[in-house]
Amino acid sequence: GANIIYGKELATELREEMRQEVSELKAKNIVPGLTVIILGEDPASLSYVRGKQKASEKVGMESKLIEMPETTSEQDLLDLISEQNKDETVHGILVQLPLPDHISEQKVIEAIDPAKDVDGFHPINVGRMMTGQDTFYPCTPYGILVMLKKAEIETKGKHVVVVGRSNLVGKPVGQLLLNEDATVTYCHSKTPDLAFHTKQADIVIVAAGKAGLVKGDHIKEGAVVIDVGVNRVDGKLVGDVDFASVEPIASHLTPVPKGVGPMTITMLLHNTIKAAKKINDIN
Ligand code: NAD
Repeated sequence: GANIIYGKELATELREEMRQEVSELKAKNIVPGLTVIILGEDPASLSYVRGKQKASEKVGMESKLIEMPETTSEQDLLDLISEQNKDETVHGILVQLPLPDHISEQKVIEAIDPAKDVDGFHPINVGRMMTGQDTFYPCTPYGILVMLKKAEIETKGKHVVVVGRSNLVGKPVGQLLLNEDATVTYCHSKTPDLAFHTKQADIVIVAAGKAGLVKGDHIKEGAVVIDVGVNRVDGKLVGDVDFASVEPIASHLTPVPKGVGPMTITMLLHNTIKAAKKINDIN
């Protein structure tokens, strides 16, 4: 059966290292600061942002959660972002998505100072990633890359098939692996024969948001399978990969929960520390 890659364990290890790093920065009077902004009271979104806030406090960072009503105007949100851009105690700014329909997500993303864009969604940072420059990489894709490296899975020259092409996960994870010398194929909802592609992959990364989409007969013997999906089925969290049928065939497999999820927040903390170091000219 497959080697199960627990992102949870790796996340714990990395956050312990970050706690040390933050305390060293504090000795130099640098306190990495993260502002998280959320509009409305969606329980899932609230639980995500509280998780982010708790995790940042645990590593010793300064963390501010700004909860605004769902009816907040676009201009008020843009003004708030502009304030946070100017605030020198704030190194990272994150606006929880999705936003209510009356607000343009693109406008909001582009209002954040690229130097504080710890989500890595600003077109400037996306462009830097695309051109192979060092920048803030989006947290979930970056977490996947770090997991693969830590598990010593070779990406150079490997065929990676990404299922899903969202700006949040699919597209950037393919780009990061392309930067690591993989050959990358993207599949999505209009791909006629998904299995035809996934069966050729050395590494399959699934971010479709469809429970059990990828099954054992989609996978080549010995492939590495990374399951990004988070779906609630009968009150239980499950991934996009049918664990039972894939586990006997894959060489490595990430579980849901305790797989990719915990790495996402970890990379957010990493990016915030990076932002604080950068502004203070520390490498
Ligand atoms: P999305 O809905 O924006 O994109 C889904 C993508 O999957 C689309 O590109 C679509 O074309 C593709 N797709 C849908 N059905 C398909 C099918 N039958 N065959 C092939 N492709 C198909 O979603 P997203 O934001 O990219 O998130 C994807 C999943 O990852 C969701 O379950 C989400 O909850 C999860 N997620 C997890 C984390 C984490 O930290 N663990 C972070 C972000 C997203």
